[in-house]
Amino acid sequence: MGPLNLFKRICAAVAMLSLLTLSACAGNAADPDSAGQAATQKIEPKGKVYYSYFDTVSYVYDYSGDSAERFDERSAEVSHILSEYHQLFDIYHEYSGVNNLCTLNRAAGGEALELDGRLIEFLQYAKDMYALTCGEMNVMLGAVLRPWHDCREAASSDPSSASIPDAAALREAYAHTDIALLEIDAQNNTARIADPAASIDVGALGKGYATERAAEYLERDGAFGYVLNVGGNITCIGDRPDGSGWVTAIRDPDASASDFACRLRIRDTACVTSGVYERYFTVNGQRYHHIIDKDTLYPATYFSSLTVVTRDSALADALSTALFCMPWEDGQKLAESIGGVELLWIFPDGEMRSTPGFAAMIEEPTPS
Ligand code: ADP
Ligand code: MG
Repeated sequence: MGPLNLFKRICAAVAMLSLLTLSACAGNAADPDSAGQAATQKIEPKGKVYYSYFDTVSYVYDYSGDSAERFDERSAEVSHILSEYHQLFDIYHEYSGVNNLCTLNRAAGGEALELDGRLIEFLQYAKDMYALTCGEMNVMLGAVLRPWHDCREAASSDPSSASIPDAAALREAYAHTDIALLEIDAQNNTARIADPAASIDVGALGKGYATERAAEYLERDGAFGYVLNVGGNITCIGDRPDGSGWVTAIRDPDASASDFACRLRIRDTACVTSGVYERYFTVNGQRYHHIIDKDTLYPATYFSSLTVVTRDSALADALSTALFCMPWEDGQKLAESIGGVELLWIFPDGEMRSTPGFAAMIEEPTPS
């Protein structure tokens, strides 16, 4: 990712941060030390920001009133988890002493590699998500995503000579994207990519999966009233002490980063959006974003953004990409069959449709 892209993503994440902070500062929370008494005390949220993971900005917030030491410990462990998954999932760099996805890609067509058990579990999960989404979210799409990525990077350094990948080359690349090319031996903790021209790309799933692992740790540790925001993948652990939840904003895909389509009150859940504005480049006035429809091998055109609210951040991330590549009816049916998945679709003409459960979370603007 170029510095400009990272800057854009930082701006988007900061916009999200200010909304969360705004809602936190607006309310009073019950003082945990005076349970049973009428006295209430405002709890100041604490926050930490990290710039090193998944080419984006990550935040950990505590609204629970934990001591500074407790928060330091918990945020350090969250940072540690994100950092380990960042290294395991990196497809561009290898790290000493670790076989990661970059190592796996470089070994494509060769011998099986021994991998960290967490990576094996993740790869199995990625295959499950492929099956669940009827192949719309396919981590083995690397051969097709790579030329799109390269064109986007080239366009960011020299917009005047921006171009899109050759259609015939994309079709040829698609012949190397079968999910079965990813061979996993969970008994022996090994995996292999069976075709030298195939590669894995976990951009659609990695952040959400790592966020879920960090959320899992926090829950296990008894945290309640924490929010993680990993590049816009938001996960709320529990609720604010006064039970009022958090208000987050869904960006208006057609407007600047500070304008939003709606505001949402959430608690104890994850919220992930895929949108055309996240990463894109322009050729002859036409925008090409970063989510590729396997049926056309071009950026998906059904929606401008798609938001998923569901308990599990990894599932939310997988579905945000997959449903972005599916007609509305198909996405709706898939979500119903899974259950506990609420959605907001924003169409290219600005029309918004949501599931009833999603609509129930929308905050009406406060009358002035
Ligand atoms: P973001 O990572 O920007 O939040 P997504 O979760 O939708 O957005 O993931 C988009 C990324 O996923 C792309 O940058 C690319 O690496 C990868 N990708 C794009 N299209 C697909 C697809 N159909 N299946 C799997 N991965 C995809
Ligand atoms: Mg995704």
